Amino acid sequence: MGHVDAGKTKLLDCIRGTNVQEGEAGGITQQIGATYLPAENIRERTMELRADAQLNVPGVLVIDTPGHESFTNLRSRGSSLCDIAILVVDITHRLQPQTIESLNLLRMRNTEFIVALNKVDRISGWKKCKNAPFVKAIRQQTEDVKDLFNMKLAEIKTQFQDQGLNTELYYKNKEKGECLSIVPTSAISGEGIPDLLLFLVQWAQKTMVEKLTYVDKVQCTVLEVKVIEGHGTTIDVVLVNGELHEGDQIVVCGLQEPIVTTVRALLTSHPMKESRVKGTYLHHKKIKAAQSIKITAQGLEHAVAGTCLHVVGPDDDMDAIKNSVMEDMESVMSRIEKSGEGVYVQASTLGSLEALLEFLKSPAVRIPVSGIGIGPVHKKDIMKAGVMLEKKKEDAIILAFDVKVTTEARELADDMGVKIFCADIIYHLFDLYKDYIEKIKE
Ligand code: GDP
Ligand code: MG
Repeated sequence: MGHVDAGKTKLLDCIRGTNVQEGEAGGITQQIGATYLPAENIRERTMELRADAQLNVPGVLVIDTPGHESFTNLRSRGSSLCDIAILVVDITHRLQPQTIESLNLLRMRNTEFIVALNKVDRISGWKKCKNAPFVKAIRQQTEDVKDLFNMKLAEIKTQFQDQGLNTELYYKNKEKGECLSIVPTSAISGEGIPDLLLFLVQWAQKTMVEKLTYVDKVQCTVLEVKVIEGHGTTIDVVLVNGELHEGDQIVVCGLQEPIVTTVRALLTSHPMKESRVKGTYLHHKKIKAAQSIKITAQGLEHAVAGTCLHVVGPDDDMDAIKNSVMEDMESVMSRIEKSGEGVYVQASTLGSLEALLEFLKSPAVRIPVSGIGIGPVHKKDIMKAGVMLEKKKEDAIILAFDVKVTTEARELADDMGVKIFCADIIYHLFDLYKDYIEKIKE
């Protein structure tokens, strides 16, 4: 996680040895991607740090996030989907608005995280030491460069302090747990990458044994709902525990009602490649956690990203599963104004919608919400928001958080007089709304 352009995708590219970042439109991550890093790969990359490094995990599944999405908000059985997060900070820009937004979300969900202080190669005079452990790299720098680094580090530590967090370079940090660890990195020349990988794995292994231990009970979260040519509407999921099989009966949360369907195909991308890179998929009869998987099945059109997927076992009570699948959705629906007056809000996942609703409800904001939607803004959403034109004209607004608006929807909104405000930072939506309301009042 982190601010746009902090180097999240490039870091992952550097670890994988690929170049997704330059292939992306405008360099920005358009879609969710998940990459599986096998333990052998991590062992190879961390060799220089400690040849005898004990790696007990079979690998790490890394989820890259678009600049504005928050994966702490994707839940698996009530808690955060991720075991551990990497907050990427650009050393040349220090803490930025989305760094702080990410920070707050991580804390809200009690997600463990470490800081990658990226772009150290941008420090003026930096001598590149390709893929070297950070301590080795910093030793080779001139005193001036060392001073510059320490100065920037001190500034950033102060900024974290302002957010109520103590931080320390990871190899100096004696109070891991109380004090947040910082790993300096460069995604371009690879300094600090061995440190990042080893520290991440070792810390997780040490502090989250229970969470990391594999269990048979399926635990699976829907990351994205996507239409794929030749496959229809598919869902990209992260399987955290258990096994999925072709032909499994599954239940997922739908916008209106639970969706019960059968797994037609289980698809993955090739190891060490990212799932969003186009290409052929591998087909599987069964897949064991942890993996990111594309599932094809019928009736997934209204599946809600950010919710849990359940597999129906022989002794399971279907009604109980259906209820449990819809629980998250219902808790969100319950926040909608009973009066039926308020704006319409739309977000990419249930998690980001929740974060937005929470914000709109906060005492400093207090914007009533009458309706919600997930995914791109379509004509039907404009129709729903348009209901307000008769009830309370100034509420005929859609606040669209990190979602696209279809051309037809935009045209219809113009015709009807429904306002659409789009932003990929939550509080920008508030600013847009506030300005608009003030203008109306005038
Ligand atoms: P994201 O939005 O956080 O995923 O950022 P990207 O990975 O797309 O990187 C944004 C820009 O910063 C790209 O032009 C990268 O090449 C550049 N960049 C990322 N990491 C580094 C780094 O460690 N050093 C330097 N010099 N540039 C970097
Ligand atoms: Mg990116």
